[in-house]
Amino acid sequence: MRVSQLFNPTLREVPAEAEVVSHQLMLRAGFIRKAAAGIYTHLPLGLRVIRKIEQIVREEMDAKGGQEVLLPIVQPAELWQETGRWDVYGPEMFRLRDRHEREFCLGPTHEEIITDLIRTEVRSYKQMPLLLYQIQNKYRDERRPRFGLMRGREFIMKDLYSFDRDQAGAMVSYQKMYDAYIRIFSRCGLKFRPVEADQGAIGGTGASHEFMVLADSGEAAVVYCPACDYAANVEQAESHPRPVPSENPTGGRKKVHTPGAKSIDDLSGFLNLPKSYLLKALLYQGDERVFLVLVRGDREVNEIKLNNALGGFVQLGLASRETIVKTLGVEAGFVGPVGAPKGMEIVADLEVALMNQAVCGANEVDFHFTDVVPGKDFKIDHIFDLRVVEAGEGCPKCGAPLEAARGIEAGQVFNLGTKYSKAMGATYLDENGQEQLCVMGCYGIGVTRTAAAAIEQYHDADGIIWPIPIAPYHCIIVPVSLKDEAVAETAEKLYREFLTLGIEVVLDDRDERPGVKFKDADLVGYPLRITVGSKALANGQVELRDRKSGQTDLIAVGTVAAHVRAFIHNALEHVGD
Ligand code: ATP
Ligand code: MG
Repeated sequence: MRVSQLFNPTLREVPAEAEVVSHQLMLRAGFIRKAAAGIYTHLPLGLRVIRKIEQIVREEMDAKGGQEVLLPIVQPAELWQETGRWDVYGPEMFRLRDRHEREFCLGPTHEEIITDLIRTEVRSYKQMPLLLYQIQNKYRDERRPRFGLMRGREFIMKDLYSFDRDQAGAMVSYQKMYDAYIRIFSRCGLKFRPVEADQGAIGGTGASHEFMVLADSGEAAVVYCPACDYAANVEQAESHPRPVPSENPTGGRKKVHTPGAKSIDDLSGFLNLPKSYLLKALLYQGDERVFLVLVRGDREVNEIKLNNALGGFVQLGLASRETIVKTLGVEAGFVGPVGAPKGMEIVADLEVALMNQAVCGANEVDFHFTDVVPGKDFKIDHIFDLRVVEAGEGCPKCGAPLEAARGIEAGQVFNLGTKYSKAMGATYLDENGQEQLCVMGCYGIGVTRTAAAAIEQYHDADGIIWPIPIAPYHCIIVPVSLKDEAVAETAEKLYREFLTLGIEVVLDDRDERPGVKFKDADLVGYPLRITVGSKALANGQVELRDRKSGQTDLIAVGTVAAHVRAFIHNALEHVGD
């Protein structure tokens, strides 16, 4: 491709709307343009990156026995009503009506559609395991579409669905996909980490892992153990309860006047007590039910764990001020479990059950109780692991201090059990002619998000630094001046030679100053630049520059193609090392 013909509108300025580097650079380097919030047009260079990621994904899915299909984007409401997800999905679902007023949605995911297919087409155990996948647009009307391709409302996903005879078979499929994902992200040249994950709205009963591309800008917080292989999304990370040493610092059971001490910080300062002696009591509302949720003052409630433990509400969140006042007769800040109204369900974190002299709100403005013993001075209805795990605390597997990292969720694998096959009646006949439910799994990779994540990981002040396997082109040839005939001719000759050798090459044949060409080449992030200038050429040489290391070598014109090929070959062989 010649740059003079390449549709690659670059921008000098950083677009104001772009908060993260990948979004800024994709706009500046002419990879995407916005059509509406979270909806983008992919320009030629951007699309090449996407196609490369898709190809890697496709090869690895096929290698595990996956078969590619293409499911409809427009899906009838009835299928979603069968699983109950027409309501559960809420405002994230794009809904529409046809001319007959029938309801449809634009597929945010495809469990319903594929289960509908399988229930009619799969009859016998002999037809399984079955692994079907597609690479296609997904539609989610995200509450906060942002960060460009990272969180779009229309985005490209690879989704594979596995159907097995039993749970053991489903776990074999799960392991296949887990292994394939390791290969995919390694082949893309990314630094990543698989972590234990929550199952979210897709839900199921078995295992789930997320594949996190590590980047400081990542929306997800991860904890991992440097000593063993434990790693989890903090949404999911198991806490290791640690009791607080008890040396009776609260001075015995009293009702103390704590004027204005509404927050844990206020109260800890006022009583001169570590936060770990205080009880944080929060009123939560899950659909129509309210709960008093207790964690230690130095801990945070993990709402995902809370919701899972309580059985999964459509909506779970802190109760409004009105609800607090109505149910407990007091303002937030002085709420506590002692003397809570009869029938109020009290849910406590594991560590709360270990406290033996806690301070808690007295359900009276400006008053707290000291030396309260949970389980004795008030009843606890449910004890669960409810809190957020933090870096520095003990690994639940081996006890070593956990470390924290941030990541971008680029993929997720789920064991779905029989959630969908049961709801939709996807059954088969086993060897004994008995009807059984198919056991399912689903496995997604955000293709467009992976492209953005790669930029978050690989960039510098000048632009993108593509890992070779997903770079839009491998190299760019830059003739410094077209007026110098020898330069122009050599550049052209090399370009043709590279094309014949199958090297993915771009020739910057524009009549621009070299500075402009270099800036654009760095911005787009071509892994290699071959500069043809009159000085070096006088010695029969051209300059070969590695975008990543910045290393520049003078190479004889006759051998530059071999060098470039070796470089690319080497990079593709050793990705992920
Ligand atoms: P998130 O928690 O980030 O909203 P999710 O867990 O809802 O994502 P999944 O249903 O697991 O997403 O979808 C599989 C993959 O699709 C994700 O791992 C991610 O790479 C990608 N993905 C999900 N939502 C978006 C989005 N809004 N824009 C781009 N990619 C997305
Ligand atoms: Mg996910």
